[in-house]
Amino acid sequence: MRGFFIGRFQPYHMGHHEVVKNIINQVDELIIGIGSAQESHDLENPFTAGERILMISCAIDELEIKKKVYIIPLEDIYRNSLWVSHVCSMVPPFDVVFSNNPLVARLFSEAGKKIINTKMFNREEYQGTEIRRRMLENEEWESLVPKSVSRIIKEIDGIRRIRDIAGRDDNNEKDEGIIIGSKADVKPFMNRNE
Ligand code: ATP
Ligand code: MG
Repeated sequence: MRGFFIGRFQPYHMGHHEVVKNIINQVDELIIGIGSAQESHDLENPFTAGERILMISCAIDELEIKKKVYIIPLEDIYRNSLWVSHVCSMVPPFDVVFSNNPLVARLFSEAGKKIINTKMFNREEYQGTEIRRRMLENEEWESLVPKSVSRIIKEIDGIRRIRDIAGRDDNNEKDEGIIIGSKADVKPFMNRNE
């Protein structure tokens, strides 16, 4: 059985990691879709698809599992009614979708896919929005992500990037206005209902 799990992974954190560990116990192969793959360098989506692939791939290596995991970037198409076809055209065939996102579940079940609901783990802390906030505010964030993810974020100077795009280094104030090409007004659907 091949399973599918999707997220934006900005960044990949311990909550995602717990879900992935659980899924791996239930499938022969896992496909991880990286949503909003085209986004990067803004406060909601600081990391590129390539950086997110690296984070997930290294974190999964830490698990030392033998099962095959495909990590596939998926760009937004801004048309929910066609989204399942878009996803299916980009990833290997799969039998079951693992998700706790109501829209993801709705769209895949309309397309006849089996859905297995995933549990939330320590959602107060294991949350991309909270981790990005801590990075920006210079608070402790490393315990909320797998070790390899914090190593990669340091390697790519990710904290400096987040502070730069927030304008913090110059004026110590959040200045949303300087974000170039931000799509903050066009919320990718992965963000809703969570
Ligand atoms: P953001 O705050 O940026 O939306 P996020 O933590 O919700 O980040 P996503 O990449 O949006 O992360 O989530 C991908 C999938 O993982 C979603 O279905 C989401 O519900 C799930 N997920 C996120 N955090 C957890 C968690 N702590 N435990 C279990 N599942 C989680
Ligand atoms: Mg989310």
